[in-house]
Amino acid sequence: MASSALGPRVLLRRLREVMAERETAQKRLDKIVMLIAANVVAEVCSIYVMRQGQELELFATEGLKPEAVHKSRLRVGEGLVGTIAATAEALNLAEAQRHPAFKYLPETGEEIYHSFLGVPILRGGIVIGVLVVQNRTHRHYTEEEEEALQTTAMVLAEVIASGELQEVARVVAADVTHIRLHHFKGEVLAEGVALGHAVLHEPRIVITNLIAESIPKEKARLEGAVQELRAHVDEMVEGTAGRGAEYSEVLEAFRMFAHDRGWLTRLGEAVETGLTAEAAVERVQNDNRARMMRTPDPYLRERMHDLDDLANRLLRILTGQIATASRGDLPANAIVVARNMGPAELLDYDRAKLRGVVLEEGGRNSHVAIVARALGIPALGQAEGLIDVIDTGSPLIVDGASGDIYVRPSPDIERAYIEKVRFYARRQAQYAALRDTQAVTRDGVRVQLQINAGLLVDLPHLAESGADGIGLYRTELHFMMAQRLPRLESQIRHYSAVLDAAGDKPVTIRTLDIGADKSLPYLRQPKEDNPAMGWRATRLAIERPALLKLQLRALLLAAAGRNLRIMFPMIADVEEFRAAKALLEKVKEYLHRGGHELPRSIKLGAMIEVPALIWQLDGLLKEVDFASIGSNDLLQFLFASDRGNTRLAARYDPLSPPLLSAIRHIVTRAAAHDVPLNLCGEMAGRPLEAMALIGLGLTSISMAPAAVGPVKDMILALDRGALWRELEPMLVLSDHSLRGRLESFARTHGIPVTA
Ligand code: PEP
Ligand code: MG
Repeated sequence: MASSALGPRVLLRRLREVMAERETAQKRLDKIVMLIAANVVAEVCSIYVMRQGQELELFATEGLKPEAVHKSRLRVGEGLVGTIAATAEALNLAEAQRHPAFKYLPETGEEIYHSFLGVPILRGGIVIGVLVVQNRTHRHYTEEEEEALQTTAMVLAEVIASGELQEVARVVAADVTHIRLHHFKGEVLAEGVALGHAVLHEPRIVITNLIAESIPKEKARLEGAVQELRAHVDEMVEGTAGRGAEYSEVLEAFRMFAHDRGWLTRLGEAVETGLTAEAAVERVQNDNRARMMRTPDPYLRERMHDLDDLANRLLRILTGQIATASRGDLPANAIVVARNMGPAELLDYDRAKLRGVVLEEGGRNSHVAIVARALGIPALGQAEGLIDVIDTGSPLIVDGASGDIYVRPSPDIERAYIEKVRFYARRQAQYAALRDTQAVTRDGVRVQLQINAGLLVDLPHLAESGADGIGLYRTELHFMMAQRLPRLESQIRHYSAVLDAAGDKPVTIRTLDIGADKSLPYLRQPKEDNPAMGWRATRLAIERPALLKLQLRALLLAAAGRNLRIMFPMIADVEEFRAAKALLEKVKEYLHRGGHELPRSIKLGAMIEVPALIWQLDGLLKEVDFASIGSNDLLQFLFASDRGNTRLAARYDPLSPPLLSAIRHIVTRAAAHDVPLNLCGEMAGRPLEAMALIGLGLTSISMAPAAVGPVKDMILALDRGALWRELEPMLVLSDHSLRGRLESFARTHGIPVTA
C-alpha cells in the first residue's frame, strides 16, 4: 500500500460528510469502505460486524466479491478476522496466507491479496467488529497506517453506537444484549433479591463531536484540559494529608499517571490524526481498556483502572459532563453499579426507586454496606470486572443470599428470580402479620427482640418490625458520615431524634467505637500494624477524653428528663469501665452545676467482646447496670480470626462449642448477678444461631431489623427446655461446628430456621 495520498484528517472529514447524507445504513457502509480503500490506497476494505457475540459477518466490502456480503462469516478465533476479534489486537501482515490462522473463504475471491491489515472495532473495550484493508502486493503497512486505521475504526464504532448507522447498531446492540450474559459471584454485603436495570454511579461519557474542525484548536483544548486535570489531582493529593499513608500512595500513583509522557504523547498523536480532543482521549482509552481485559495480573489491571479513571476525568473536563448520575431522575427498579462509593453517596439516591447496589470493591464491613443494610436493599461487593460489561440500562439480577449477579439474564433465570422475589414478598407479609405478636417460646419464655441501628434512616424500622427496642445504637456511623467532627448541637439533635423515635421503647446507645475499620477522615490516627487490636474505642476515649466527654454531654442533654442507657465498647478490663464511668460522672456533675436538666435515669453497660473479660465477669457484673455480648468481635478475638478477612469468613463457625460455651458462661454469671444481658452481634439475626442463643439462656437479642420477623417465627415454634436438654451435652464435644446437629433439631421439631 502506498502511503496515504490524502491523510487521515481528510478521511475523517469525508466520513463526516457521508454520515450527514440521507441514505440507508448499508449504502453508507458501502461508501465508507470505498472511501477508506481510496484513502489508504488499498484494493480491499471490508467491515465485519460481530453477531451473537461469537460470529463476524461481512457487512460491507470494497474489493471482495459483493455476493459475499452478509454471507461470509467467521467465528471468533477463526481465521485472521476471528483472531483479531478474539485478541482485540491488530494484525499487520505482509503475507497473510502464511499466518497459521489464515482461512480461505472461496466466496470472497481474496486469494489474490497478500498483504493484510486488520484492526478491532472496539466499543467500551468490547469488540463489536473488525475493519480490514488488503493489497495484492506484499506490503508492510507502516505504524502510522495502522494507527490511522485504528482511528477510523474508533470513529466507526462511535457512529454505530450513536445510532447513526442504526441498522448496524441494532444488530450489535441486540446481539450484545442477547448473548452477552455474564455471571459474577460477589460477596454479600446486604441481603435481599433485586431485579432491575443497571445505573452506573459514574455514567459513561457520551461523545458526539468526533472529528476536528481545527487541529490546533483541539490541541489547545487537550492541553488546557490536561492542565486542569493535573491541578485537580494535585489538589486531591494535598487534601489527603492525615488520611493514612496507603491512601496518599494511591493518589501519588494517580498523580504519576497524570504526568505520564507515554500517555500524553499518544493523546497528542491521536489529535494529530484529526480527532477532537475528547475523541482522542477515548481512542487511547479504548486501547487501554482492551489491554486491561487481557491482563491477567491483578496489580497491572488495578493500575490500568487508574489510567481509565484518569481518562474519564479528562473526558468530563472536555465535555463538561457532570461526574455522577442525576440522582433525582433515577429510573424505576434501579440497581446502582459502582467501583466503590461512600455511604453518603448511596443515601443521595431516591430510596423509592433504588432496588440494589453492586460494587466492584467494598467489603461487608464497609460503610456503604452498613448503609445498604440500614436501607434494607440488597448489596453485593467484590464483583471484579463488572463495570467492563455493563452499560446504564443493562438488565441485572442481584441475589443477596447466594452472591450471584446476572448481567442480561436469560428469560429462564429471570423467571426463576421473579418467583423468588414473589416468595420473598409472601414471607415478608407473613412476618409483618406477626408484628404485634410477642416473641414467646412454646414453653413460655419471653424473648426481647431488639434492633441494631446507627442512622436516622434506621429509626422507622423500630415500629415497622415491631421490635421491643434498640439494643445497639452505633453512634460512630453519624461521625463516619460527617465531613468534620459533629459539634455538640449536631450530636444533641441526632440523639434527640433517636430517643424521640423510640418513644417508650428502650434504646441502648453505644459510645464511639472508632478505630480498626471504622476510621474518621478528620481524626488523625497513628498507623498501626493491628488496628483491630489497637488504640481504639474506649481505650482511645479514656486517654483522649475530650471526644467522649463531648459525646456524653450531648447524650445527657438530649435525654434530659428521659431514661438513658449508655454502653461502652471494647472493654478489656474492669478498670476501663470504671474510667469511662468516672468520665460520665464528671460530665454529669458539670451539667448539674450548669443548671441543666439531667436524664431521669442513667443506666451504664459494657460490651463483652474481648475474651479477657470472661475471666473478670464477677468483678464487672458488680459494677454495670447491664451488659451486651458483641459476638462479632468476641468470635474474632477468640479464634484470632480477622472479621473483615473474606478468606476467613467461613473458617470458624459461631455455632462452635468454644463460642457457645463462652456465651453460656456469660449467661450464667449475668443471671447469678441479676444483670440484664443482651447479645447484639450478627449471629442474633440468623434464625438457627438465634435458636442456639435462646437455648443457651439468652432472653434478649438484638439484630438487623429485617431479621426480627424470621427470628420471631422461629421462637414461636421453639420449646426452649427441649433444646437446652439437647444442646447442653453438645457443648463439650470437640466438633468444629454444631450447625448440623442444631439443624437436625430444628427439622425434627418443625422449627423454621431459614430466613
Ligand atoms: C460486635 O462486635 O458484635 C458488635 C455488635 O459491635 P460491632 O459489630 O459494631 O463491632
Ligand atoms: Mg464490636
